[in-house]
Amino acid sequence: MELELYNSLTRKIEEFAPINPNLVTMYTCGPTVYNYVTIGNYRTYNFADILYRALQYKKYDVKHVMNLTDVGHLTGDNEGDADVGEDRLEKAAEKEGKSATEIADFYIEDFLEGSRSLNLLKPYKFTRATEYIQQQIDLVRTLEREGYAYKITDGIYFDTSKFKDYGVLSGLRPGEIKEGARVAINKEKKNPTDFALWKFSPKDSTRWQEWDSPWGKGFPGWHLECSAMCMAELGETVDLHLGGEDLKMIHHQNEIAQSEAATGKKFVNYWMHGAFLKVDNGRMSKSLGNAYTLDDIKAKGFTPLDLRYFYLSAHYRSALNFTWEALAASQVALKRLHNTLSGYKEVGGNLSSDFVYKFEEAVLNDLNMPKAVSVMWDLIKTDLPEGDKVQTLIHFDQVFGLDLQDYVGYEIPQDIIDLATTREQYRKSGIWDKADMIRRQIEGRGFEVEDQMNSFKLKKRF
Ligand SMILES: [Zn+2]
Ligand SMILES: [Zn+2]
Repeated sequence: MELELYNSLTRKIEEFAPINPNLVTMYTCGPTVYNYVTIGNYRTYNFADILYRALQYKKYDVKHVMNLTDVGHLTGDNEGDADVGEDRLEKAAEKEGKSATEIADFYIEDFLEGSRSLNLLKPYKFTRATEYIQQQIDLVRTLEREGYAYKITDGIYFDTSKFKDYGVLSGLRPGEIKEGARVAINKEKKNPTDFALWKFSPKDSTRWQEWDSPWGKGFPGWHLECSAMCMAELGETVDLHLGGEDLKMIHHQNEIAQSEAATGKKFVNYWMHGAFLKVDNGRMSKSLGNAYTLDDIKAKGFTPLDLRYFYLSAHYRSALNFTWEALAASQVALKRLHNTLSGYKEVGGNLSSDFVYKFEEAVLNDLNMPKAVSVMWDLIKTDLPEGDKVQTLIHFDQVFGLDLQDYVGYEIPQDIIDLATTREQYRKSGIWDKADMIRRQIEGRGFEVEDQMNSFKLKKRF
């Protein structure tokens, strides 16, 4: 069965065919690291993770890059006002009395920890915008040379009227701007859709983060970083580029314009966008006090995996409404799933090809995870042998990422425990070769031993 995905560029479901049949290139627009990542943003990264896992399930090697924006993203908004306001990192630094780098380091650490707790598989690379300043300057120079850039009082801008395909993703033509945008139009811009490539540092103050450039001291525009890093890491044309739906209209349109204007090549073959997470059927926002973080949900007794299960309850292109009741229902369901697994005593068996087929029918059809979850429950309800169920559920979990194998009820034979205990003594005495030998023996018996601070944990391998 082939993987089919909805491409925002063509507005159609298409069969996925990567440029290189063996290696998929994938870029996800990651967080701006000036604050805790909300469960709304995590929904987008969870969607990226499901895609990543589905590609791996299809046996592709995947080079997944996610950026970490640590400069240049302004407070305006992600749409019509993206060039307006203060730099989010600079503002947070001022507020928290730290340097911009300290702010970034802190929130990146928190994000990485949060991602791990949600079982988001680690990308091939996280790229920080401040580590690609030279590539960004080079890109602006190219655009300048090709006649797409012009200079005004506060920076270097991209002339959208020069790029004939402007609007191909957003439907927005040069000169138009999103209806209702509260843009204080910069009178010097040639077209309202023009956007900053490089912004000059203010004359009267020093920024935490600024760099010399051919145009003077300043910092890169927000859209620029993703083009520069995506092309630097994955090449001029990539297979997949993802982000939240709020990035489609302006950010991604601008990425296309500046990348394709610079290279003359198609930038991205498949654009994919995840829908918003709503809260109590309304908007999630910091000002409404409902921009919940992982810490907020943990404080109420939920685990990150409860949240992951909740994310699976809606298709990635549909809005998902967060309520505490809905999260509680997901928690109950996940617990029931874990309990069911721990009740299974037979673990050896065969994949149910029937159910694998139904599962693939769901997942490979534009990642229909709610359907895949219901296939999983249908499987549990059948009278197939327990061992077949266990094997099939663990097979599904390659995409679900719910740690199912940790819950399967099985007993560890006493002699395996004895072996591990002996090994632990060797390890404590620093006799590593013997410890390693026993580890291999344990693995040969289908178990693995995980070292902990002062003990060990044994797990069955599936
Ligand atoms: Zn992007
Ligand atoms: Zn981006």
